[in-house]
Amino acid sequence: MNEMTVAKFGGTSMADAHQFRRVRDILFSDPRRRFVVPSAPGKRFAGDTKVTDLLYACHKRAMNGEQFEDLFDRIRDRYLSIIEELDLKIDIANELDTIHHKISEKPNPDYTASRGEYLCGLLLASYLGWEFIDATEVIRFDKQGAFASEWTNDVAAQRLSGITHAVIPGFYGALPNGEVHTFTRGGSDVSGAIVARAAGATLYENWTDVSGFLMADPRIIKNPLPIRTLTYRELRELSYMGASVLHEDAIFPVRKAGIPMRILNTNDPSAQGTIIVDSTNIPPERVFTGFAGNKGFSILSIEKSMMNSELGFGRRVLQALEENGVSFEHMPTGIDSMCVIIPHNDLLMHKEKIIERIRETCQPDSIELSGPLALIACVGRGMRRAPGSVAKALMALYNANINVRIIDAGASELNLIVGVDEEDYENAIRAIYNAFVKQ
Ligand code: ASP
Repeated sequence: MNEMTVAKFGGTSMADAHQFRRVRDILFSDPRRRFVVPSAPGKRFAGDTKVTDLLYACHKRAMNGEQFEDLFDRIRDRYLSIIEELDLKIDIANELDTIHHKISEKPNPDYTASRGEYLCGLLLASYLGWEFIDATEVIRFDKQGAFASEWTNDVAAQRLSGITHAVIPGFYGALPNGEVHTFTRGGSDVSGAIVARAAGATLYENWTDVSGFLMADPRIIKNPLPIRTLTYRELRELSYMGASVLHEDAIFPVRKAGIPMRILNTNDPSAQGTIIVDSTNIPPERVFTGFAGNKGFSILSIEKSMMNSELGFGRRVLQALEENGVSFEHMPTGIDSMCVIIPHNDLLMHKEKIIERIRETCQPDSIELSGPLALIACVGRGMRRAPGSVAKALMALYNANINVRIIDAGASELNLIVGVDEEDYENAIRAIYNAFVKQ
């Protein structure tokens, strides 16, 4: 099979002319890299503003009928300085005028925000001498704005076939009527994965400003170990619980096509990074691959004697949540008690209604709302058939004098969730990390 790579570069990788040079060096150093998906220029230094944020700010002003010249000039300068420093033979004056005109005449947040990637793609294509393919040609959303994956795959595969090298801007695509529509923030990761699938890539490289995933949040653990290999399932569990290097939806297109993804650092291209694969056959380095977590959960505890023999009890509890548009995270359940863990913010508006409804339909002996709780996910394919891994994690918490409020471990043996009081969160992560990593 011919090897081929699709490379996505994040905002800091596209931030200025210096970064553009790095990106070109990376692309030209490996002939397998044939398609590139850039984000919009991001922060050049701490305190700088991303082009996308400037564009959203322009939109906001335009909506209020205010002028946004000063902001637009900053955007203009970002691109013009890249053109000048790299001596690009491209004139974007007309493009900038059109964008300015459209933002003032008919403000549309998606169109406006997408112009960061659009202009960046034009500049990069000119710099590399590669073809520019507008994302509205190849990425499709349905009328409701939901990503149309199979439609996109057909259109994009056809458009990309026979093309040797191209630049496709990230973050946006088109609605059926041709209007621009964006993914949620950080969506260039998703665009890159979509292009990788459609182009039949053998590798999806995601270039960012960190050398891959770390085993734990470096704000909590000093110099955590890097994760070399991650499975897509582990990644999903970790990013769901707050490990944010990648847009959560970026996994699906490449996973579906069995394409491995590598997270790499534009500022340190020789670092190994993290490779994400579908196979569970790759031996794990240790019991747990990584730890992630979040604060801000509530526990809804419902008790009723003889609950275990009452048909439909659980369904009625969950129905009360569903009727109020609230989804739950976990549901550790006993014989006569049932607990539902819910993000605190989702519950705020509906708390009274949900409790009243459960009282009405389930007639519990007691119903209580408590929290706030922090959840910690200990994720690892190495946990499977490894006796003592749960015991060791819980022992570490016991030794650190941390009370465990809930435990949830599914039959898949991939993930152990522990809930602790919010004030114990950081210490709990440290205790578990130290128990497994610094042995
Ligand atoms: N530029 C967009 C954002 O800032 C999309 C991306 O960077 O992936 O969210």
